[in-house]
Amino acid sequence: MRIVRTIHEIEYARSQWSGPVGLVPTMGYLHEGHLSLFQTARAENATVVASIFVNPTQFGPNEDLERYPRNLERDLHMLAAAGVDVVFTPTASEMYPPGFTTFVEPQGSLVEQGEGASRPNHFRGVATVVLKLFQLIQPQRAYFGQKDAQQVAVITRMVRDLNLPVTLRVRPTVREADGLAMSSRNSYLEPATRAAAPILYQALQAGRQAFEAQPTSNPAAVMQAMAEIVAQEPQAHLDYTEVRDAETFLPLERLQAPALLLLAVRLGSVRLIDNFALHTDGTWDTGILSSQHT
Ligand code: AMP
Repeated sequence: MRIVRTIHEIEYARSQWSGPVGLVPTMGYLHEGHLSLFQTARAENATVVASIFVNPTQFGPNEDLERYPRNLERDLHMLAAAGVDVVFTPTASEMYPPGFTTFVEPQGSLVEQGEGASRPNHFRGVATVVLKLFQLIQPQRAYFGQKDAQQVAVITRMVRDLNLPVTLRVRPTVREADGLAMSSRNSYLEPATRAAAPILYQALQAGRQAFEAQPTSNPAAVMQAMAEIVAQEPQAHLDYTEVRDAETFLPLERLQAPALLLLAVRLGSVRLIDNFALHTDGTWDTGILSSQHT
């Protein structure tokens, strides 16, 4: 496995690859959710590139950029074991040298709601760094997690809007055995908030049940069902529950696919997000529990 830190080196490495290239962008502190992306990429490409970059432009001024968990040594062991060929792990000044001024600015319903409303400029930072990674690595395929559903929608739109020659592959959310979606930020949870954290998954299950009990009902009933479950957990403070069109992120007036049930919940100082997706063929993507995962 080759470890590459500079833009000059990645451009040189790229000139030596042959066959399809799969890129898995990450911020490191890897877990099984990331591993499922590497496994899929490994199965589908001749060369697999992982990036590890805690991207400063997607963090707000009061967010957790400084304390975001990092453990490069452990990550490199996991990447080697997953059969990754190249790890691109640049510094912030390599990606954003002095004088950097050009950003990709997603606009409209896709970024005005949900995470975009809670985290101004977050998706501008995500879109900018993903476009830079696409330019530097020039993958045929890029792999993202359904866990970050709005990120998937923003990047899908960017690929379409800017005619980028890359195929996006989206993998289901990998969950702990109790339903908590795996996330690097779960390491912030203390024992009491960790014990409360499966409430997000339980709320999504209640939302799905409310939807299936009354498929024609107003999305407000589904949002209410999710909010009621979160309210039962004293450690949990609801940020939002939403039912949205999976592509445009506009609120749905009638429950119909492709839909997303979404929520964001604060547990102590930790803010967690999760979602279930209802596809147009009527199937649900509720993720994979770790015990079921191979
Ligand atoms: P991050 O390192 O958190 O930026 O995540 C890197 C990629 O892994 C993103 O595409 C995430 O959506 C994806 N990812 C994060 N958590 C999970 C999970 N639990 N299951 C599947 N994919 C995930």
